[in-house]
Amino acid sequence: MLDKSYEPHAVEKKWSEYWKENEQFAAKDTSDQPSYSIVIPPPNVTGVLHMGHALNITLQDIMCRYHRMKGCNVLWMPGTDHAGIATQNVVEKQLAKEGLDRHQLGRDKFIQRVWEWRKEYGGAIINQLKRMGASCDWNRERFTMDDGLTVAVRKVFVELYNDGLIYQGDYITNWCPRCQTALADLEVEHEELDGHLYHIRYPFEENPDDGLIVATTRPETMLGDTAVAVHPEDERYTNVPDAVQLPLTNRTIPVIKDSYVDRSFGTGALKVTPAHDPNDFEIGRRHALQTIRVIGDDAKMTDLAGTSYQGMDRFACRKQVIDDLNDLGLMIKIEPLKHGVGHCYRCKTVVEPNLSRQWFVKTSPLAEKAIKAVENGETRIVPENWTKTYYEWMYNIKDWCISRQIWWGHRIPAWYCQDCQHTMVHLEDMTHCTKCNSQNLTQESDVLDTWFSSALWPFSTMGWPEKTHLLKTFYPTSLLVSGFDILFFWIARMMMMGLWFMKDVPFKDVYIHALVRDEDGKKMSKSKGNVIDPLDIIQRYGTDAFRFTLAAFAAQGRDIRMSEKRIEGYRNFINKLWNAARFSLTHLESYSSKESADQLSLPDRWILSRLTQVASDVESHLDEYRFNDAANTLYQFVWHEFCDWYLESIKPILYGREGHKQSTLACLNKVLCASLGLLHPFIPFITEEIRSKLPDAPDTSLMYTDYPSKISSVDTSAEKLMNLIMDMVTGIRNIRGEMNISPSFLLDIIIHSPDADIRQAIETHKYLVITLARLKHITIQKPSIRPKSSATVVIGDHTIYVTLEGVIDFEKEADRLKKEINKIEKELVGASKKLANEDFLSKAPEAVVKKVTEKHSALMEKQDRLKDNLTKIQKIGNI
Ligand SMILES: [Zn+2]
Ligand SMILES: [Zn+2]
Repeated sequence: MLDKSYEPHAVEKKWSEYWKENEQFAAKDTSDQPSYSIVIPPPNVTGVLHMGHALNITLQDIMCRYHRMKGCNVLWMPGTDHAGIATQNVVEKQLAKEGLDRHQLGRDKFIQRVWEWRKEYGGAIINQLKRMGASCDWNRERFTMDDGLTVAVRKVFVELYNDGLIYQGDYITNWCPRCQTALADLEVEHEELDGHLYHIRYPFEENPDDGLIVATTRPETMLGDTAVAVHPEDERYTNVPDAVQLPLTNRTIPVIKDSYVDRSFGTGALKVTPAHDPNDFEIGRRHALQTIRVIGDDAKMTDLAGTSYQGMDRFACRKQVIDDLNDLGLMIKIEPLKHGVGHCYRCKTVVEPNLSRQWFVKTSPLAEKAIKAVENGETRIVPENWTKTYYEWMYNIKDWCISRQIWWGHRIPAWYCQDCQHTMVHLEDMTHCTKCNSQNLTQESDVLDTWFSSALWPFSTMGWPEKTHLLKTFYPTSLLVSGFDILFFWIARMMMMGLWFMKDVPFKDVYIHALVRDEDGKKMSKSKGNVIDPLDIIQRYGTDAFRFTLAAFAAQGRDIRMSEKRIEGYRNFINKLWNAARFSLTHLESYSSKESADQLSLPDRWILSRLTQVASDVESHLDEYRFNDAANTLYQFVWHEFCDWYLESIKPILYGREGHKQSTLACLNKVLCASLGLLHPFIPFITEEIRSKLPDAPDTSLMYTDYPSKISSVDTSAEKLMNLIMDMVTGIRNIRGEMNISPSFLLDIIIHSPDADIRQAIETHKYLVITLARLKHITIQKPSIRPKSSATVVIGDHTIYVTLEGVIDFEKEADRLKKEINKIEKELVGASKKLANEDFLSKAPEAVVKKVTEKHSALMEKQDRLKDNLTKIQKIGNI
């Protein structure tokens, strides 16, 4: 028997243990079954479960459990990402508390500390995923820094290097002075800030009172200028001298012509700082300009900035430069300007474009294949609109800067000979120079971008570069589920690496899910205080209610507005299912599966027909990743058709007053079991618990019972008749409401129908109408004179008359309605007055005005309904 009420935590614990002990999530390395595989987007090892994970995990779990039921050998590969900068930051903070920093510790000891940290805290996120019910093959858990994956990373690096697709170059990169690392373009967040545009005169050598006026938002960078550029067709500058003096230095710099210059910006003269601006860097290359680094990696001015500025912080230097230019009379004007300033995505420090020697992946040959694979349909992106975004990015792809100046990560397998300067890239650690045999080698100190190892995730986790059974069975994977925010960081790069090294796409389908926002559609953030914590939700509502809510709102291309009220609603659904199962179980105790089930009642035939349709709908929704449609179809079916109508309809049979009890019990058992099967991928815990208590419980998880696709067949005539009966019952119930008749009072009705077959059918099933509508007596006739003092319900050709004579006191009911109408009238006056008040409308907060407007229209509606009822009563009662 089931407990009186559903206790999610006990049930979740029980089934988590069952799944684990019986290895229910284990994939087979080889199998005759069709394969289905997903690799998890590895959460950061520093991560804490948030709404995004919860949604992502729920959707993947639905697909994995669904495919197990469909008979697939399913691999859901779990793991975590070492998250270079993020993890290093966490451990550095820990060290700071002890009054230490990583430099004091040294590289090896620091890395050891990170591993210790990982051992102690790195499992937290995995345990949180387990609480979500994630059916990953946990015995295969991988980590982007484990030995196998490290081998894969090295192999990829060496091969790309040997193919000429990895190179070292001086490059202008986005530099975070706080994290002390280069950042990829994508790791820079641009924020519009109030700044200034400084107009500065660079005097002509011959005529220092005249000169070119340049405009800049970062005047301190002028110390590193190596040219001024004008547009070749700018008539203002056809006859300018070919050099100007660079103020605050004793340098003279050339005036060059380049069509990159925007003639409409400022005066059309552009200062060129190749070491500190990406566009200037390109101009510098075209004109073979010198690069002078005046800002160092620590964001302080270098000696090349000149003795008066050397050692100053870049922003202090900016002030000093402005002052000095003012003193010289060279600052022409300063105007306020809103402009985009790049910030580090990790620590929000202002990024400094800076010149440094970095490692790059030459991406265009890789991108070419990745574009073709989507064009050919080898990989499908759902929803389709993301395909366009993918192409746009891939066609404009830039070389990928993969080196990071941190310690935690895959150290680049390159060695420099200190004697002959030879650079060697190698799979194994090098001890001798291959050119001069010197042992005086140093390894590259940079590590790889975290995304480099995660780009290999679909095949590195399956044992590549070994030719494993796992790869053969499960690569390419079936599906990848991800948020759009890492479409470029991760998905595109997996496409490139997968196609290059495995000669096949990493996944056949990519499903891009939406963002989870708050109930007003705002992004959840700590500072706004609108974050809903998934662990708190699980604690209070249970995992199943939470998972079902996420699935029910996961519509393609639409963000999810999450609120506790919504989760509460689905918790009610979970409880409704529990109660329905409890009710069914009390009757199923007397059910024997050996008895024949060939005497199906109308409700039996109807529910089997509906279930058949629902199962097929859910299947096609899931196959097309319409999670919300699948969840809502099941919700409607279970709550309304199964609980509200079917269980109510079969009560006379269950209590032995009508029909063939064993047949109906067989049907009830079948429908309940199949519904649990259909629901299982969404709400795994409660479904396992209920199924285990029903007759003939399976000795495996529900995941390994057949997906209920072939229950029965669609029975149109049963559906038609049952629909007519339900319409009649609903009509009679509405009259009860309108006429304020107690639900326990048994009514008399007369049905007029011109159709002899229908009259016969209703006659046969009149116990259904009697039970469901709570009737004393029912008369079925051909249409004739309208009975006196009765309310009517018209359904197609059929009319139902509900006798009211002696049921209600018409006068009294009319008075009651009049009183109520008057009361509402008064309330309406108040609300109308407010809404007519300009002062109120303009001054009250939007939410308050909205509330009053809503109340007003609700009152109007109620009043209309009551007036309608009053007219009916007066007509029927002749008053
Ligand atoms: Zn930073
Ligand atoms: Zn050497």
